[in-house]
Amino acid sequence: MTALRVQNVVKAFPALSGPVPVLAGIDLTMEPGEAMALTGPSGSGKSTLLHVLGALEKSDSGSIDLDGIDPSALNSDALADYRNSKIGFVFQDHHLLPQCTVLENVLSPGWAKKRSHTEAIALEARSRDLLHRVGLGSRLDHLPAALSGGERQRAAVARALLLKPRLVLADEPTGNLDRTSAFAVARLLLDMIAAENAMLIVVTHSMEIAGLFPRRYRMEDGRLAPA
Ligand code: ADP
Ligand code: MG
Repeated sequence: MTALRVQNVVKAFPALSGPVPVLAGIDLTMEPGEAMALTGPSGSGKSTLLHVLGALEKSDSGSIDLDGIDPSALNSDALADYRNSKIGFVFQDHHLLPQCTVLENVLSPGWAKKRSHTEAIALEARSRDLLHRVGLGSRLDHLPAALSGGERQRAAVARALLLKPRLVLADEPTGNLDRTSAFAVARLLLDMIAAENAMLIVVTHSMEIAGLFPRRYRMEDGRLAPA
């Protein structure tokens, strides 16, 4: 069974001169363990596509099927659950909570729901494991301000994976990093997604970073073209 199937997804934004089409028929399928890079000019709709897949915004038409769920058909409670359980986000800015330690930050997606003691212990164990795997095993009690830009993105990757998402959406996750850290974070995302058997879509402006990915697309006139 295909884990992600996107068919003819269309979205326009209203403007004074009438609706501006941004997504004009997106088709995409992905299997577990797959990773793709998405490039394209600024304003071409890359972020909009990630937001629609991640149920932060609704499409106008078309269908999405992630493990049998179409987020455009869900009510708001179910949407929050979909975002929490199926999707992991990594942004250009790490969005770590400055007053919380690295370990607390990685645990934070688990705070949205009341948990049993057993679940809470399992989540803390998973947070520690993820932080070791992203190379931050010795930084659990540090505050984000004590980390480098690359380390903060590593923490953001661990946080995105806490609740075992099926699909990780990373919007220019290496955009603020120097070249060496950018490569390291992109490779880390690829390794982690393979190990977790999840799926990954990474938006990037860098053709070098895109070159690390087995599948590459470019957003062109609101559609995905092979790149
Ligand atoms: P990219 O991520 O490729 O730079 P975006 O998806 O952010 O592009 O934006 C695509 C287009 O949609 C742009 O023209 C942008 O101005 C417009 N857009 C994005 N979000 C909104 C919004 N919430 N309301 C109106 N227009 C928007
Ligand atoms: Mg964008």
